[in-house]
Amino acid sequence: MTILPKPLRKPLRSSEAAGTINSWRADDPGKRGHQTVAEPFQAGASAVDPPVKPEITQGWILASIPIGMMHLACLGAFWTGVSGDALLVCLASYAIRMFGVTAAYHRYFAHRSFRTGRLFQFLLAVLATSSAQLGPLWWAATHRHHHANSDTEQDPHSPRHYGFLWSHMGWFLHPGNRRDNLAGIRDYARFPELVFIDRWALISPALLGTATFALGRVLAEAGRPTSGAQMLVWGFFISTVLLYHGTYTINSLSHVFGSQRFDTGDDSRNNLLLALITLGEGWHNNHHHCQSSCRQGIYWWEIDITYLTLLVLAKLGLVWDLRPVPAKVYAQAAEVRRPSRPT
Ligand SMILES: [Zn+2]
Ligand SMILES: [Zn+2]
Repeated sequence: MTILPKPLRKPLRSSEAAGTINSWRADDPGKRGHQTVAEPFQAGASAVDPPVKPEITQGWILASIPIGMMHLACLGAFWTGVSGDALLVCLASYAIRMFGVTAAYHRYFAHRSFRTGRLFQFLLAVLATSSAQLGPLWWAATHRHHHANSDTEQDPHSPRHYGFLWSHMGWFLHPGNRRDNLAGIRDYARFPELVFIDRWALISPALLGTATFALGRVLAEAGRPTSGAQMLVWGFFISTVLLYHGTYTINSLSHVFGSQRFDTGDDSRNNLLLALITLGEGWHNNHHHCQSSCRQGIYWWEIDITYLTLLVLAKLGLVWDLRPVPAKVYAQAAEVRRPSRPT
């Protein structure tokens, strides 16, 4: 994540090992007449470097400075004050960008759980990058690595092995975990516009910060009780920091607190509260069991706002081929509810 220097670029090596996350196949994706870019993901490499042990290095400290400054900037609220307008923009900025993280970075780039055209793919990348959590290629490749090594010592953010704080936010500050792993994201590294936005991941959040300041100025000119500085603090700094920690909970708390419906062999949990603050990502045990499904809350009462939003976008024709939860997963879930059933 974050507003930090560009991670070290690691050359793509064809000899790197292949993984099998999302071995989904589908019919000809071009039959809708759209330019479809999300071909079925068949085999990509996960990171193969030795795991980075939790240690505070000089590089870690340097990488911590920008994110520390982001947190300090939130204290500007004591100077700017707050208004209803600022709170509204803060909430909207959080929710829209959380959707970008969950729908784009996670469900699209990392798991290919739905399809879209090349332009909307780029727009999704721009939106998600405004979260200041580094670029789409790094994010998705790192996440694939998490699934390929969940809660083993190869998992860079496992609370089981490395503790809560490291899994929450210490891990990505280590330069060893910030390298590009293009071998793990070959399917999207072939798009030059994605490589560009991955390389220049600070552009999007910088534009957002500028836009929130301008919005505050315009509203103030119109007589609203706000200002450019106030809107910048609430609409960008505070909402971004909340977005950081909301996202991080899935790496930390979602592997500690909650229930386990499926025996996934890792510590992933389902947690309603985390699902609410992350727009559906809190159904993490469901997701670890069925990673390729676009839907993570598998029943209507498992609120998954990202999935519901994607259904709306599908109605509008902006995305398509949302991968459903397979019938066998529902059958397995039903079996879990009847554990005493004779075999
Ligand atoms: Zn996980
Ligand atoms: Zn995932």
